[in-house]
Formats: sequence, structure tokens, C-alpha cells
Amino acid sequence: MSADGINLLRAKVFDKSKWMQLPRDVVIGHGVIEQIPAVCEDLSLGDSALVITGDKTRDIAGKRVEALLAASYDVTTFAAGGGDPFETIKKAEAAAAEAAFVIGVGGGRVIDMAKIASYNTDRHFISVPTAASHDGIASSRASVPTADGNVSLAAEPPVAVIADTAVIASAPHRLLAAGCADIMANYTAILDWELSHRLRGEPLSEYALTLSRMTAEILFKNADLIKPHSEESAWIVTKALVSSGVAMSIAGSSRPGSGGEHKFSHALDRLAPEKGLHGEKCGIGAIITMYLHGGDWRGIRDSLKKVGAPTTPAGIGVDDETAVEALLAARTIRPERFTILDMGLTRESARDLVKMLYRE
Ligand SMILES: [Zn+2]
Repeated sequence: MSADGINLLRAKVFDKSKWMQLPRDVVIGHGVIEQIPAVCEDLSLGDSALVITGDKTRDIAGKRVEALLAASYDVTTFAAGGGDPFETIKKAEAAAAEAAFVIGVGGGRVIDMAKIASYNTDRHFISVPTAASHDGIASSRASVPTADGNVSLAAEPPVAVIADTAVIASAPHRLLAAGCADIMANYTAILDWELSHRLRGEPLSEYALTLSRMTAEILFKNADLIKPHSEESAWIVTKALVSSGVAMSIAGSSRPGSGGEHKFSHALDRLAPEKGLHGEKCGIGAIITMYLHGGDWRGIRDSLKKVGAPTTPAGIGVDDETAVEALLAARTIRPERFTILDMGLTRESARDLVKMLYRE
């Protein structure tokens, strides 16, 4: 008689595996845009570069990047102006296919476009943000606006991030404040993740979770230092945004930085298009979901106020009833991502929550 059929006695095979893609060179500071040729050389990316940039951001930094690279690289520029985003991405991909690597120089929209074009053409991507408005500057997710709101797509994580604090500090302060709000939303994203872990057994990455929380804590502690057009502020926020992006890369998903507050923000993208910035909407959502988690929602609200981010729907030009609709619709966005907003929210309670935002 053979014992082959008795599986219980066999040693269990270790079958866990993990693939993390992190940026290799992260250069943040005053005037670091000048170091772009050195970074490209360090990474041995090839001899031709496609610079994807926006209309305004080309003047702010794109042209400087082109000039710096022109001495050693064959440089082509793709101006990601307005128009249908999917058409623009297709054109950007055709341009990227002709180059060895891609550099995105601009705000969130340009960076996301460069990230997607790089992913679809299998090119390395360097992120050169001109504003610190959301944590996409270093992450592997990109969002594209559609008629039904923004869709989140898999994209190439940057092989390098070059964030010049002089450039970022000169951007409108509203963008930096929105970046702060996006980072503070890490607190509630983590609480939602832990809730889903306890209630539904969703896998949790302690490493990603701790990094995400620590990033939010650093910003929370330094909220008093965040001032308009200060390079010190740009430095603090940019480092935090990169760190949040790294937490997402470690987790292999946006879970460490995106919970119910992000679903609320995405619902508002649909219900009130063009109102408020991504981070602003997430910040307002985070006050509400922090309250529902029984946490320090006033602390979140006070910190948002300190950095100059809005804390009410009125603050982003959205009426209260639309915010109520967005809270109720949040559960229909990425329904597989369980959050506190999936737990018995009614129209009446949503109205009370929105009212609470205005309370002293
Ligand atoms: Zn975000």
C-alpha cells in the first residue's frame, strides 16, 4: 500500500510571491530640473526621448527639459492639449513608440497621460511634476476623464521622479493644498482597508499600511508649515506624495491611499464634473468617513483648513444635495473595494453627515 494519496502528510509548498516596482531615482529639491540629463544617463534609457507636456506647463518647465536634453538626446515634444483624452493618448502612444523613453512634464493630467502611453508602448517613464496636487506623481495608477467620470487604469510607474521645488512652489497654492488633502485621506483609506480585512478577510500589507499612515502623520504634524509659494512646503508635500505612491507600489494597489473618501470623490466627478480638484474632494470625503470610523474628524478638518484646502461642498462650488447623492453613489463605484460607506448609509444619514461639515 502506498501513502501517496495521503496529502495531509505532504509538506505545504510555499507559494507566496511579490513583485514591487518602485522608482529608482527620486530627486527632489531646488533647481533639480537641471539634473535631468544626469538622471537619464544614470538610468541608461537610450538615446531618444519623448517629452509629453501641457500647453502651460511647456512654458513653465517643458521647454527647459527639452533644452537640457537636446545636447545628448534626440528629443521630440508631444503637446497634450485639450480634446478627447483617449484620442490624445493614442497619439501620444504613436509618438512614444518612436522614442526610447518618455518624460512627462506637467500636472496630474499630463503625468497620467505619459504614464499610460509609456505602459502601452513598454517604455520607461520619468515623472517631472510641475505641481504637487495628488499622489499619482509616483504611482502606477492613472486616471482618465470619461463621460461617466474618471476611470482608473494600470500604468507604468515612474523609473525616476524629478521634482523641482522651485517649480512646484510657483504653482497655484490651491494645487499644493489639494495634494495635502490627498495625503490626509491616507488615514481614512487605511481605516477602510483594516475594516475590510477584519470583516471580509481582504489581504493587508502591514508594510504598505504603515508607510501610508506615517506619511499622513508627517504631513499632519507639519500642517502649520504649509504656506503658499514656499519651497519648504513644496518639499514636505512632494516627499509625502512620493512616499504615498511608494506605499501603493508596495501594496500592488491603490488601497493604502484610496478608500471611501476616494469613492466619494469619484462619484462627485460624475455628478458635478469640473467642480473641485481630486484631492479637495477626497479631503472632504475623509472628514466624513473619519467621523463614521469614530476617529478624529475634527483633526482632519482643522488640518485641511490650516493648509488652505476646502472642507465643505460649498467650498468647491457643489450644492449639499449633490454631495448627499455622491455619498450614496460612492458604493456603486468599484463595488469590490469595501469601505465604511458600504455599511448602512441612508439618505437621511448622508444628509446629516453633509450638515456636520458646516458645524463649528
Ligand atoms: Zn488620490
